[in-house]
Amino acid sequence: MALPSKLSLELVTPDRALAHEAVDEVQLPGVDGYIGVLPGHTPLLALLGVGQMWYRRGTEKTFLSVAGGTVEVLPDRVIVLSLTAERAEDIDIMRAEAARKRAEQALVKSARIEDVELARIALLRAISRLNTASKARTRG
Ligand code: ATP
Repeated sequence: MALPSKLSLELVTPDRALAHEAVDEVQLPGVDGYIGVLPGHTPLLALLGVGQMWYRRGTEKTFLSVAGGTVEVLPDRVIVLSLTAERAEDIDIMRAEAARKRAEQALVKSARIEDVELARIALLRAISRLNTASKARTRG
């Protein structure tokens, strides 16, 4: 059977659809490390962690920050259901900086292990947003 030449990418959060397009490659932050997908990939279901995702159409890459959710990979489709996702250009940098500072303070101040874990994940979200915001759409 011939390999598909493109991937149909669907990316949705509980509030909105962020992408529904034909792409050449996708990279996602799985909980166990980054997952790279090209057309023809083996079917896969994975949990998303917190971090940067990108997809490529030709030589153009689009960067997003995602946090939590699932990804289903089929040979010709990638379906991402993420709890939150923001395109690089939509990220409010001052908000992410403020969230980073709050999370750092909460990490130091928290006495309960549950609060430490919440602060740790909030810090990861803020760092991912700041890293992603520094990426514009790139070519090559
Ligand atoms: P904050 O403390 O600033 O609200 P947070 O990490 O607690 O940050 P989330 O609960 O992950 O925020 O997200 C709530 C909503 O706000 C989501 O729709 C998310 O996409 C959006 N969001 C959060 N931070 C930013 C940001 N810096 N820029 C743009 N959208 C953001």
